[in-house]
Amino acid sequence: MRIRKARYPAVRRPYARPPGLLRPPGALPEEDFLAACIRCYRCQDACEPGAIQFFSERDGLLFHTPYVDPAKKGCTLCNQCGPACPTGALVPFSDRSEVDMGSVALREDLCLSHKAKRIRREQDLLARLGQRPTSSQAVVERRGPCGECYMVCPLRNRAIKLEPGSFLAPIVDPRACVGCGLCEEICRTVVRGEPAIRVVRTRRMAGSEAPA
Ligand code: SF4
Ligand code: SF4
Ligand code: SF4
Repeated sequence: MRIRKARYPAVRRPYARPPGLLRPPGALPEEDFLAACIRCYRCQDACEPGAIQFFSERDGLLFHTPYVDPAKKGCTLCNQCGPACPTGALVPFSDRSEVDMGSVALREDLCLSHKAKRIRREQDLLARLGQRPTSSQAVVERRGPCGECYMVCPLRNRAIKLEPGSFLAPIVDPRACVGCGLCEEICRTVVRGEPAIRVVRTRRMAGSEAPA
């Protein structure tokens, strides 16, 4: 007799949203933004790069309001969404450095350029000791240097600089960063795993002291 396998309903994973919020550029402070946004989706229609996503019904108070997710698409700061917003929930900006979507953090241990820099130093040391580098070190070095985050940053040489003479190794300045997410977007592509550079979502949920 043929035994039929029991069928179970698909297991739904809980919705994992990163802590904090990343609104499109020029968004009012969170409580004012929620009061002003009429959930009309015009900012998304105006966003040619496709950077604006919308929260859904399951996100409670945030439902049908816009956000940016660098894991999907960073914001190019083209300034098309602000003028399209009919209520002033998004305010157009006159200078990119005025934008305050979020900040940035770099993990040097995951960065290809910083890895290449470390390996080159180890190889120099081995050479001075008269030893050959291992094959695994040679493989890692072939994936660096990178420097892609530096190339895409709209505030290049302010939010991201390069360490002089160090394999395009980036140095970030979180105070100068506007949180556009372009660096995280490209880093996810080149590292093909956990990105070395990430946007820090500094905006708090309305009525909350800590990031959402
Ligand atoms: S500034 Fe441009 S790229 Fe950024 S969210 Fe607005 S429309 Fe999209
Ligand atoms: S255009 Fe303005 S009011 Fe409309 S959904 Fe976007 S932020 Fe809200
Ligand atoms: S460091 Fe990254 S998030 Fe900050 S402005 Fe530059 S590209 Fe945008």
